[in-house]
Amino acid sequence: MVSNDRFRELVAHCKEYGFVFPSSEIYDGLGAVYDYGHNGVELKNNIREYWWRSMVQMHENIVGIDAAIFMHPTVWKASGHVDAFQDPLIDNRDSKKRYRADTLVEDYLARLEEKAGKEIERARKRFGDRFNEHMFRQTNERLQQLEQQMNDVRRRLQEALETNDLEGLRRLIDDCGIADPESGTRNWTEVRQFNLMFATQLGAVSGESDTIYLRPETAQGIYVNFLNVQKTSRQKIPFGIAQVGKAFRNEIVARQFIFRMREFEQMEMQFFVRPGTETEWYETWKQRRMDWHRRLGFDPDAYRFKDHLKLAHYAKAACDIEFRFPFGFKELEGIHSRGDYDLGNHQKFSGKKLQYFDPDLGSSYVPYVVETSIGLDRMVLAVLSASYAEEQVPKADAEESSSRVVLRLPSVLAPVKVAVLPLVARDGLPEAARKIFDRLKMFCRCYYEEKDTIGRRYRRQDAIGTPFALTIDQQTLSDETVTLRYRDTLHQDRISVRGVEQIIQEKLDWRQWLA
Ligand code: ATP
Repeated sequence: MVSNDRFRELVAHCKEYGFVFPSSEIYDGLGAVYDYGHNGVELKNNIREYWWRSMVQMHENIVGIDAAIFMHPTVWKASGHVDAFQDPLIDNRDSKKRYRADTLVEDYLARLEEKAGKEIERARKRFGDRFNEHMFRQTNERLQQLEQQMNDVRRRLQEALETNDLEGLRRLIDDCGIADPESGTRNWTEVRQFNLMFATQLGAVSGESDTIYLRPETAQGIYVNFLNVQKTSRQKIPFGIAQVGKAFRNEIVARQFIFRMREFEQMEMQFFVRPGTETEWYETWKQRRMDWHRRLGFDPDAYRFKDHLKLAHYAKAACDIEFRFPFGFKELEGIHSRGDYDLGNHQKFSGKKLQYFDPDLGSSYVPYVVETSIGLDRMVLAVLSASYAEEQVPKADAEESSSRVVLRLPSVLAPVKVAVLPLVARDGLPEAARKIFDRLKMFCRCYYEEKDTIGRRYRRQDAIGTPFALTIDQQTLSDETVTLRYRDTLHQDRISVRGVEQIIQEKLDWRQWLA
């Protein structure tokens, strides 16, 4: 469901609590570039670690690399990015805003889908238990018209994208009567193609040097290193190479916070397989990646697969894992069966063999590739939007007010794991609390705070998603026990100081997320 207010609240929350700031904010920011604050960087590091451990630690046949951002310019010719890494753009003459033409049509389709959903919900309410959705879909005239309209638009969009028919795309926008969300007018320019790569010069004297590009994806660093890695790691096919790193795209539309950035981070894994087995591996990786998302414990219905309408220049089959962001279902991760497109082209352009000798077959071939590619920043946004909640709470628990904002982050991802809070800042409590803090900080990130009422301190920890709080009070001094407070349930346990480490360690055990 579209919820702009909720999205605005989340963006404000991210700034207020040190997760994400606009880049160069004192100069009014830079379009679609963001910085991570002290909590944001921890969350991002933890997500990266969850991915890396799941991919590299948990798979004997996946190894990591860290390739440079700058690559030889021919890489981007071979990869097809110089010729084909482009999006169709359209401008509205009144608002002077620029849009991706295909996204305008996709948003229009999402509105039609929402309309159809509402028709069904209305009927469900009207008919109660007697409601049969299948029958309703087949017989309701209004719904059938909507479905027909959606199919028509989908077909025309797909045709236009596949054949690069920019005029057809423009006609479709006209025929759908799509207006600029900003100005409300239909005063559109023609649709044009726009290459998304950032170019720069290598070397001190421009003119003498070559144009090189900031990499628009991390994958190519893996392909050009395929043989280096395979030989030095002694991997046999099927095996994968994983990498996390920055990528850069001069995006046309950049108004969705860290969903679409011009500088962002990707977590990619390229899996090299024997030709003929790629479909099987594509299905396997689709499922494994969906499981990885669902293991975090958010609403399972917030994820869905979506096949691509238009295949990228390199793809044989491709789908997205979409996530229900506050502004609707959108791509979070791509899974692509890339065939031998990349290795084959690098072989051609470099003149170097990029083949694997398969001992089982007794022959050599260019391996096929199945890729999983997820934006780390997009994952940060997905996790934040799934965790963010405003809720009423009982006044017990020494809470100050009856409502709170809480980030229900999986504990393994939380920026701070344990808050150590002396009830008051005197009577020996800070000293006792410091001792516990100094022990706990050896194995997880903790936060010590003694100022303010305990209720306010709990609230601040809820707002950054700290799963556990330890409160040290007078009783601690006499019987060596502390209160362990759980963020989600507000439940409190009295536990012995000696048992604290073990309990916290159990709760933060990576095994729960990797199994
Ligand atoms: P979109 O259709 O949203 O532009 P894409 O299909 O071009 O995305 P891919 O090239 O498949 O994206 O990139 C893989 C992943 O990288 C995406 O699923 C997304 O999570 C992330 N990603 C791509 N572009 C951006 C961006 N501009 N900002 C943040 N993350 C991005």
